[in-house]
Amino acid sequence: MTTFLRQRGLLRPAQQIMALVASSSALVPLSYLATQRNMSVQATVVSATAAAFALSITAFWLTRWPTRRQSQAMGLAGSAFVVGWGVVQPSAGVAALASAALLVTGGYFAFFHNPRVLLFNIGLAVTTAGFATARLADDTDVATAIAGFWIIWFLNLSIPVAIRGMSQAMDMYATRAERDGLTGLLNRRSFSHALQRMLTEPNRSAAQLTVILADIDDFKRVNDTYGHAEGDRVIRAVADLLRAHCPAPAALCRAGGEEFLIALSTPDPALQLAQTLCDAIADMPYGVTASIGVSHVDLATSGQLDGDAMVAHLFAAADTAMYSAKRSGGNTVRQA
Ligand code: GH3
Ligand code: MG
Ligand code: MG
Repeated sequence: MTTFLRQRGLLRPAQQIMALVASSSALVPLSYLATQRNMSVQATVVSATAAAFALSITAFWLTRWPTRRQSQAMGLAGSAFVVGWGVVQPSAGVAALASAALLVTGGYFAFFHNPRVLLFNIGLAVTTAGFATARLADDTDVATAIAGFWIIWFLNLSIPVAIRGMSQAMDMYATRAERDGLTGLLNRRSFSHALQRMLTEPNRSAAQLTVILADIDDFKRVNDTYGHAEGDRVIRAVADLLRAHCPAPAALCRAGGEEFLIALSTPDPALQLAQTLCDAIADMPYGVTASIGVSHVDLATSGQLDGDAMVAHLFAAADTAMYSAKRSGGNTVRQA
């Protein structure tokens, strides 16, 4: 979800919404502290701590995006404050209402975290609601308490579950938008993002970031001779071959048509891998070959350069090298 929001420039607005929610939650204990007379010591302590917590979480959201752990800890602490605040309420009705507020943290977990933490929160909500509505039965009557319990159950289950469904749909569409439909490799846009990440967060053991561009030679002939469906099969077979030969952290992309891009960080420029790919493509049963261009940057010096410019340079240099391989007759590797 964080990546999804970041790539669409939505991280800052999301932070502002979170800050608004966190600051709104502070209004509950703050207004209670300001207006309630004859408050117990526990209620005063819990309300003051909850208000301080909500305001510090607001400040947090305004200044940064949390890590997964920080986010989960903040959500769980929020749930704990909701439970604690409900427990110290003298009014059973308000205590029951407070347990309904757990759907806010439930919705948050549903959107950003795994189902386990969401289930834990739902369990917490049901338990808290059970205690609060048992008190409500003493204060009012059993029918009111039962109705209250089912309302809280319904809210805490339906809204987070609906949010979970929505976040999974977003996840599915985001993944689909990143991939090429024919081969399942990354598309050019998500490949550029992967390359940017490799430049900004380099693997510590890697000294070089290599880009390999492979273009199938005379591919029009495959389509013209055997038909478009066979052409598609060759493209998928090349994609499978790249997956089989490239190490797991490499980013693999179909850049369009019969062009493929590979990015990987390695101790030295990955010329050997490019040659292996060139030979393996020529060995495929389809009688095709590829022209391969290789470019690389030294990660020790790339930190001082602009990321976008570096990505553009890597693409352009690999492209020039690939055309040089193509001009020399194809089925060969050239380095920029
Ligand atoms: P060169 O040796 O110069 O690379 O020649 P080429 O024929 O490989 O390259 P060119 O760019 O002239 O043609 C690429 C062909 O790839 C033309 C296009 O019809 C075909 N193509 C592009 N996308 C697809 C696809 O998704 N499936 C199939 N079957 N063919 C495709
Ligand atoms: Mg070609
Ligand atoms: Mg081409």
